[in-house]
Amino acid sequence: MEECIFCKIVAGTIPSRKVYEDERVLAFDDIHPMAPVHVIIIPKRHWATLMDVDSAGMADLQAMMAAGQEVARLKKVDQRGFRVVINCNKEGGQVVWHLHMHLLGGLRLKDGLA
Ligand code: 5GP
Ligand code: ZN
Repeated sequence: MEECIFCKIVAGTIPSRKVYEDERVLAFDDIHPMAPVHVIIIPKRHWATLMDVDSAGMADLQAMMAAGQEVARLKKVDQRGFRVVINCNKEGGQVVWHLHMHLLGGLRLKDGLA
């Protein structure tokens, strides 16, 4: 996956502002934040989209959710509230083809999905 920007962030060949890391997951600040808190949480293993994750890969999704709890605490939005989003494929708004979860917070997010 040498052409994948998020794999390059995992490898350290593209810099990022790391928020959290464990053996399965890396979390870093989004380069174009849409909210005061905007963290990208990725599995270190490359899955192109949510739909590509197989049953063995569910441990990565579990680890991403657990990382989301930790990131929310680190960014002090755990009590205020936040939103997690996974964009999948074109109509879902996915642009980077390495599975990732957005964690957004720090303001009153608009109601609705779009
Ligand atoms: P998507 O629309 O695929 O769900 O979101 C991709 C996100 O990755 C966007 O919010 C974009 O700003 C972020 N992003 C893309 N390239 C980079 C990068 O090189 N570094 C960081 N930190 N974020 C990136
Ligand atoms: Zn990748």
